Amino acid sequence: MTGIELSDAFVLFGASGDLAAKKIFSALARLESSESLPPKLIGIAKSGWSQDQFRQRIQESLKASSPGTGSPAAESLCRRFDYIDGDYRDAETFHALADHLQNVRAPLFYLAIPPSLFGTVADALHQHKLTRRARLIVEKPFGHDLQSAIALNRLLHSVVPEERLFRIDHYLGKDPVLNLIYFRFANSFLEPIWNNHYVESIQVTMSENFGVTDRGAFYDEVGTIRDVVQNHLLHTLSILTMDPPINASAESNRDEKTKILKAILPISPTSLIRGQYAGYLKEPGVHPHSSTETYAALRTTIETWRWSGVPILIRAGKNLRVSATEILVRFKHPPVSITSEPFPPGSNYLRFRLGPDRVEIGLGARAKRPGPAMVGQPLELLVMRNQRNEEDPYELLLGDAIRGDQGLFTSQEAVEAAWQIVDPILNQTTPVYEYPVGSMGPHEADSLADLPGGWHDPCGKENGGPGPKGFS
Ligand code: NDP
Repeated sequence: MTGIELSDAFVLFGASGDLAAKKIFSALARLESSESLPPKLIGIAKSGWSQDQFRQRIQESLKASSPGTGSPAAESLCRRFDYIDGDYRDAETFHALADHLQNVRAPLFYLAIPPSLFGTVADALHQHKLTRRARLIVEKPFGHDLQSAIALNRLLHSVVPEERLFRIDHYLGKDPVLNLIYFRFANSFLEPIWNNHYVESIQVTMSENFGVTDRGAFYDEVGTIRDVVQNHLLHTLSILTMDPPINASAESNRDEKTKILKAILPISPTSLIRGQYAGYLKEPGVHPHSSTETYAALRTTIETWRWSGVPILIRAGKNLRVSATEILVRFKHPPVSITSEPFPPGSNYLRFRLGPDRVEIGLGARAKRPGPAMVGQPLELLVMRNQRNEEDPYELLLGDAIRGDQGLFTSQEAVEAAWQIVDPILNQTTPVYEYPVGSMGPHEADSLADLPGGWHDPCGKENGGPGPKGFS
């Protein structure tokens, strides 16, 4: 925690946008019900709306995004939220904002706007002397590659210092991701085996069973590596592999994550397989000759005493067989078998399912089949199963930003370290293999997983997949 001063105004840039409607208003309504919002709330956009039209928009968004929120808190949020209509490129907009903020000490500005406008808005806030004690939340994506991220950091630092800059990645506020940190460091049995003496390989998979939906134009500019690998998946990997933080402070947690990100080897184009689902080029908004990937599989390692030599596989894609985010940590098998039966590969593992439909932790083991023969079978001890709808992370993250707690936000160093890892594979010159909708991606990716057990199948038996060790 870097400061205890509560923000006394919340200013939402992008107040008429998709993210505000889908996520932000419902999170704010819940914060309002716990009386955690600042006294002043202001939304700014250029839709030409009146104050009443803006409040109606909030009401409609709340009904659509969380039907149960027709509460006094939701009404209070609508009543208290002021609206300024204006273009961010127009100084008048910021004069109007300055008038609204006259008695405000430490505003929190949330830039939920197209990234091309981050600099314009930040500059204008600074020029209108609104940033002296302000905090700034910046939405993702944070840069397009390493150089653009460095330039954006430089620009934002000319307006607010790092300790008042909040780079939001809602993934880091998800409960199953937070549980990953907790589970790792609240259980002493894990630490002795959490290293290259016992761990054989690590896999992180984010599989989605839907395509680009109505976001074809956006996605075609970005692709899988920028959309989810550089941020969600590398940060998940950093949580999985970092050393224990030296204390409970946000800084020590962030320090460890950054340290491990710096130790992940940059990915070589020869350790990358890109794919595109059949029919992608006909999606609305997608360039007919696009070489943007909708699937990426890659392999790397972490050069530290703890992890050196452990293969790390990361895979993400759209229109695959199942929607699942899973981590599989496979352990080496026992050195010798005590029966005539050799131990099959991949029997001992720890599996974390981070959603979206369910959250699980599974421990893969072998046990003897009942009967006289010393013959074993694989089994999984399911230590947690949670099918409840996950709480929305925006409530947690926005509440933290209002209190000035940066623990779950990404630091400049971590952002740049993550870009450094993917920078060598961003130029889109590697082949893009077509894969059928409903498969698990192009078969060319099998060449990356030449390790015991091969690719992990996140489909699981109950989803019709071949179970813990097979993959096709
Ligand atoms: P939208 O395009 O839906 O919304 C953009 C917002 O910015 C609108 O309120 C728009 O106002 C406003 N705006 C744009 N240009 C100007 C301008 N010149 N002057 C004043 N207002 C302007 O974007 P999203 O809500 O989808 O995304 C916002 C940010 O959140 C982006 O950085 C995105 O990457 C990030 N994000 C979005 C997610 C999502 O699911 N949508 C998920 C994760 C991150 P108006 O409508 O009045 O023109």
